[in-house]
Amino acid sequence: MEKLFIVAADAGHYMGTPGKRCMQKYDPNKTREWVLNDRVARAFQERAAAYEGFIVVRVDDPTGRTETTLQERVALANAIEADFYWSPHHNAGINGTDRQNRHDGGIVAYCSKGSTRSPEWRDAIYDASIAAGGIRGDRTEPKARADWYVCRNTNMPAVLMEYGFMDSADDVPIILDPDYSKRMGIAAADAVAKKAGLKLKPAEKAELPCLRSPEQRYVGIVDAPEFSRAAIGTLMACGALNGTGGEKGIDMTYDMLRILTIMMRYVKHIHELKPDAPEIHDDLVEIPGGDDIVRPVEPPAPNVPTVTE
Ligand SMILES: [Zn+2]
Repeated sequence: MEKLFIVAADAGHYMGTPGKRCMQKYDPNKTREWVLNDRVARAFQERAAAYEGFIVVRVDDPTGRTETTLQERVALANAIEADFYWSPHHNAGINGTDRQNRHDGGIVAYCSKGSTRSPEWRDAIYDASIAAGGIRGDRTEPKARADWYVCRNTNMPAVLMEYGFMDSADDVPIILDPDYSKRMGIAAADAVAKKAGLKLKPAEKAELPCLRSPEQRYVGIVDAPEFSRAAIGTLMACGALNGTGGEKGIDMTYDMLRILTIMMRYVKHIHELKPDAPEIHDDLVEIPGGDDIVRPVEPPAPNVPTVTE
């Protein structure tokens, strides 16, 4: 079985967190910190998908609409026994001071004060960020320690990144550029993959995130994206997917296929870690109304518009 590496990630705060936004004199839109954090987090997730066995679990609400408490984030990361915790943020504290011939701001990478395992992760991600064009500002201590809740209370190595200051004349134009966020997310994912010893998927296996509209249904194992076929086949073979109509017995959206694939990987992972774990019994998978999950379908409509992002 392929090696799995699970990263618990959150995009810091949520959309509605009061106060956390760019200073108006540098950004008339007063862009919220969550928006910038989420851009970095999404780039991280997309890059992770290019590696074998690199699983990212968002332990916040990835839509940003609801607040997930720090306690909830940590509890979830610990419950899934994540291998690493990563939290992208943007900083404040310069308060608009603009010193001549200085760069007020820059990236700060944190791990908790007592951790012995996290500093090497912190340094790897910081160094990769700078190499990818991250802001090297005038912070005296860019590789720092602080007992942020998610760093102190998680059982796995954890790093909280501040990707620039929202109240710095120097940083704001840079952190508002979506290309900067993307480079930072990719750099972090590559640094994590390198430390975890993960390999990029062969090019033919690195599929685009979604080739159809989110609502489009997939019918049959051949129709399903390559990444999901093993999971679908296993579920059909054991009768868990027992829709009538033979080959056309599945009827699922891309996200449903992703969920099944992830669940199957996780089941394998658990059984590999804990060979004496209890068997999964049929009564655990019999969901009332579950027949609705699988049903024969009409063939997909022709000329489906292609969605590339
Ligand atoms: Zn923050």
